[in-house]
Amino acid sequence: MKVLVVGNGGREHALAWKLLQSPQVEEVVCVPGNGGTASLERCGNLPLAIDDFEGMSRYALENGIGLVVVGPEVPLAMGITNHLHSQGLMVFGPVKAGAQIEASKAWAKAFMEEVGIPTAKAAVFTEATAAKSYVKSQGIPIVVKADGLAAGKGVMVATSLEQANGAIDAIFQGQFGSAGNFVVVEECLIGQEVSVLALTDGLTIRPLLPAQDHKRVGEGDIGENTGGMGAYAPAPIATPDLMTGIQTRVLEKAIAGLRNRGIDYRGVLYAGLMIAPDGDFKVLEFNCRFGDPETQVILPLLDTPLEELLLACVQQRLGEMPPIAWKQGVAATVVTASGGYPGKYEKGKVITGIKEAEAAGVTVFHAGTKLNQQQQIVTDGGRVLNITSTGENFEQAIAQAYRGIKSIQFEGIYYRKDIGHRVLK
Ligand code: AMP
Repeated sequence: MKVLVVGNGGREHALAWKLLQSPQVEEVVCVPGNGGTASLERCGNLPLAIDDFEGMSRYALENGIGLVVVGPEVPLAMGITNHLHSQGLMVFGPVKAGAQIEASKAWAKAFMEEVGIPTAKAAVFTEATAAKSYVKSQGIPIVVKADGLAAGKGVMVATSLEQANGAIDAIFQGQFGSAGNFVVVEECLIGQEVSVLALTDGLTIRPLLPAQDHKRVGEGDIGENTGGMGAYAPAPIATPDLMTGIQTRVLEKAIAGLRNRGIDYRGVLYAGLMIAPDGDFKVLEFNCRFGDPETQVILPLLDTPLEELLLACVQQRLGEMPPIAWKQGVAATVVTASGGYPGKYEKGKVITGIKEAEAAGVTVFHAGTKLNQQQQIVTDGGRVLNITSTGENFEQAIAQAYRGIKSIQFEGIYYRKDIGHRVLK
C-alpha cells in the first residue's frame, strides 16, 4: 500500500517512519514533508500547499494512494477529509464538522456541557465590555481564549485583571484574525496536564499511551508557550484507574455525543486534561489530530502495525481489532529549536551531527528542516529536531536523548535541559 501523509512537522516524520515499519506499507509520500521525510528510505516529498486539496486528490488518484493520513488541524478544519472522500479516497482524520471540536473552543465548550464531560466553567463573549465585566466578577487567575485556531498562541492564563483585559482587547482587535470572533473566558485549573490521544472509528474509541509535554520555552516550565519543547510517555500520572475514568467519562461520552449530532468522526480524538492534586480531572481542550510532540514518543512504543489501526478506523472495524499492543519501556523526546523561538528566529542554518546522534542510539524526527540546493539539511522553522529515545525507564531514555543532542549543531541551537523533570527521581 502507498500512503500519503499530509503535514511537515515532527509528528508527520514520526507517522511516516512508523508507517514504513508496517509490512503492508511499501511507500509513503509527504505533502509537503520536511528534510527528515525527504531522507527516509521509501519516502518522498510532494511540494504542494497544505490547502491544495485538488492537487492532493489528483496525485492520490493517479498514483494509487490507498490511505491518506492528515497530520495538522488546519486542513482538517478546512474540510480536507470531505474533499478527499468526495473523490473516493480513504482518509484518516475527521470530517470538517468533527474538526470543530478543536477549531472552535466555544463549540467544544457547549458540546462538553451538553454531553456532561467534566471541564472548566466558562462563558463565551462576542464583545469586550461584557467579557471584561465577567472577568472582574470572577477574579484572577483566569484564562482568556480566542475561539478559533491560533497555532497554540490564542490562550492567556492571566494572573492580573490588566493581563486578562489586554488579552480580551487583543483578541477582539483581530490579533488572531477570524479566530477571535468569540472570546472564551474560563476558570483557571490547577494541576498537571496530560495528553490522552485516542483512535476512533466513530463507534469504538481506544486510547493510546498517555503522554505529557512541556509547553513553556524555559526551564522549570516558565516563559512563553510554544508548540512543545519535549515530551514523554507513558505518563505515570495517568494511572490505570485514571485512564478508566477518562475512557468512560470523556472519550466514550465524546464519541457518543458526536454520533448523536450526526458527526461520523474517524481519526484521532485527543483530550488535553488537567489532573488536580486530588486526582480529579477536567478536559482543557480537545484536538482533532495527533499531538506534536506527543506522537514522537507514543509511536516508538507502538507494537501493533500503525497502518492496520488507521485502516480499521477508516473502515469502521476498530471494535474487531485485538487490543493495541505496546512495547515495554518508555520514550522521551527533546526538541531543539532555533534561537529566539517562539519569537523571531532565523532560518537556513546548516545542521550537522544527525548521523552521529543516530549512531548513538537516538531517533531524530525532523520538524522545521529542509534540504537546501546543496542537499544539506538546514533549519526551516522554530522547532527544528526532536531527539527521541526509548529505554527501560525515564532516567535511561532521557539521558540517552541528551547524549544524542551533544553531536547536533546549528547556529543558535536552543533546547531545554530539564525535559522530564517530573518523572525523574
Ligand atoms: P488549550 O489550547 O485550550 O489547551 O490551552 C493551551 C494551554 O493553556 C493548555 O495546555 C494549558 O497549559 C493552558 N490552559 C488552557 N485552559 C486552561 C485552564 N482552564 N486552566 C489553566 N490552564 C489552562
